[in-house]
Amino acid sequence: MKLKFCGAAGTTTGSQHLLEVNGKRILLDCGLYQGVRKLAYDINCGFPHFDPASIDCVILSHAHIDHSGNLPNLCRRGFQGNIYATDGTRDLCQIMLADSAHIQESEIDRVNRYRAKQGLPAAEPLYSQKDAELCLRQFVTISYDRPMLVEEGVRLTFLDAGHILGSAQVLLEIDDKSDGKTKRFLFSGDIGRGGNEILRDPVPAKDVDFILMESTYGGREHDAAPGTGDQLEGLIREALRRGGKILIPAFAVERTQQLLYVFHRLFTDGRIPEMPVYVDSPLAVSATETYRLHPECFNEEVYESLFQRDNPFGFENLTLVRSVRASMELNDLQGSAIIIAASGMCEAGRIVHHIKNNISDPHTTVMFVGYCADNTLGRRIVDGEKQVPIFGELHTVRAHIDSIDSFSGHADHSELLDWFDRITGPKQKVWLVHGETDRSEALRAALSERHSGSIEVANLGHTVEF
Ligand SMILES: [Zn+2]
Ligand SMILES: [Zn+2]
Repeated sequence: MKLKFCGAAGTTTGSQHLLEVNGKRILLDCGLYQGVRKLAYDINCGFPHFDPASIDCVILSHAHIDHSGNLPNLCRRGFQGNIYATDGTRDLCQIMLADSAHIQESEIDRVNRYRAKQGLPAAEPLYSQKDAELCLRQFVTISYDRPMLVEEGVRLTFLDAGHILGSAQVLLEIDDKSDGKTKRFLFSGDIGRGGNEILRDPVPAKDVDFILMESTYGGREHDAAPGTGDQLEGLIREALRRGGKILIPAFAVERTQQLLYVFHRLFTDGRIPEMPVYVDSPLAVSATETYRLHPECFNEEVYESLFQRDNPFGFENLTLVRSVRASMELNDLQGSAIIIAASGMCEAGRIVHHIKNNISDPHTTVMFVGYCADNTLGRRIVDGEKQVPIFGELHTVRAHIDSIDSFSGHADHSELLDWFDRITGPKQKVWLVHGETDRSEALRAALSERHSGSIEVANLGHTVEF
């Protein structure tokens, strides 16, 4: 059995790992690499580590674009096999891959306007919306906890990962013909914190021999415990005293639905006064509809509320905004209102317009509920810069800025160690992926102290045999 690290090694994006067993080539995830535009385009386009047509099947851990986003391109370049995923992942891929294709198409339009001026031929998008639709036809969905034969001698079970809707750990039970032994291989996907506002907790796998594990938060701990509305309640009350708009930049998938659920509870329990809430993002609106279709993914509280003619992600004072016109009308709102809009890092999307129109008003509150990467508008604002560039103009920050850490979708260092400890079996070899190198190294050091098996940080392009 061989495993080749084809992405998300030394970094967190572009998750792709190629497992070869019994003469079959199984690709675990097919994510987009996200980085400097030209380099990312070349890497994503070219599949430098394998020929797409040589892959027998894909097993997808979850719908995030850094795990699923290169699937349309894989299919377009000759991959004909099945893409195994949970039902929730398949349904989210339907909207997220279409959205990603739309972004690729608009970006290439911009590039091509520049290329035309230079007299260069037009470049093609990585994939089109049609490619995204076509690749969905290769999906085969499997429920959680239902072992299924996916290749000769390879049984796949999806276990809950508690990260986003449909997210799964991939457990493979393999009859390895090369030595006649049965081996259990676990790919973590991305692991959630447990105690999530809406999702079920990650399930511990049993009798595992080999683990391919994410390490996003190796060496880092979150400040706040997950799953409490207390912090949000306190900050909203303070923001109400300021009287202006409350802008919440949030990822359209998962973070927005977590927020809606917590607001639903805070309003129902009378912990904050009724006030208008707007979700201003077509992708977030579609994702919220998808969430309602998947009771199997939710913790007991949300599960019960789905069956009590209650909408856990809705309430009377909530308005879902799809059209650009309705979004622009939000500019004229008077008084306090909560506006949740993508993107979470304020790099693109409608939130940028809301920030531009309100950031210089001292009554405004901007509330960050997720991670902001370096060099993003979100990061500049969180870091307290007094003047920020928006659409090429400098704007003075007079709004009040808050940051909430309890919503993270990723287990932190201690939570990753807990996840590892709860897995039973010999765990003889562990490879760490999906982390910046120093994060993966910090996790490797901690795991080595508590576990005698071999623990390695994966190197991009390397193959291991076991
Ligand atoms: Zn993820
Ligand atoms: Zn990820």
